[in-house]
Amino acid sequence: MTDCLFCKIVAGEIPSQTVFEDDDFFAFRDISPKADTHLLLIPKKHIVNLDDLQPEDEALMGKMMLTVPKLAKQENLEGYRTITNTGAKGGQEVFHMHFHILGGSKLPGF
Ligand code: 5GP
Ligand code: ZN
Repeated sequence: MTDCLFCKIVAGEIPSQTVFEDDDFFAFRDISPKADTHLLLIPKKHIVNLDDLQPEDEALMGKMMLTVPKLAKQENLEGYRTITNTGAKGGQEVFHMHFHILGGSKLPGF
């Protein structure tokens, strides 16, 4: 999608601090970190959010979940929090699905 911030980041049209990339996913540091380590993991495919998922995305989402601990290990996180906001009322501001991965010093209770 041409008018999507995160699609532009995947395409390299907007710079990011990339930490991981493979055929299906891209991960980079959040521009406004809410923890010592704050990554955003996104599918390269433009999916708006969890509500936008289709049955054919099942394997992709499984792979996305398996990518989370891989990134946490790469960042030497002993523990971490994974969040995805869905819809404006769920706090979503960028409408390309992303998992926030937060860690570093101990996170406050949720
Ligand atoms: P949301 O509120 O949609 O769940 O999260 C969007 C996240 O994207 C926010 O944490 C925000 O700081 C981050 N963000 C917004 N614009 C940019 C950008 O241009 N680059 C990077 N690296 N992160 C961004
Ligand atoms: Zn997009």
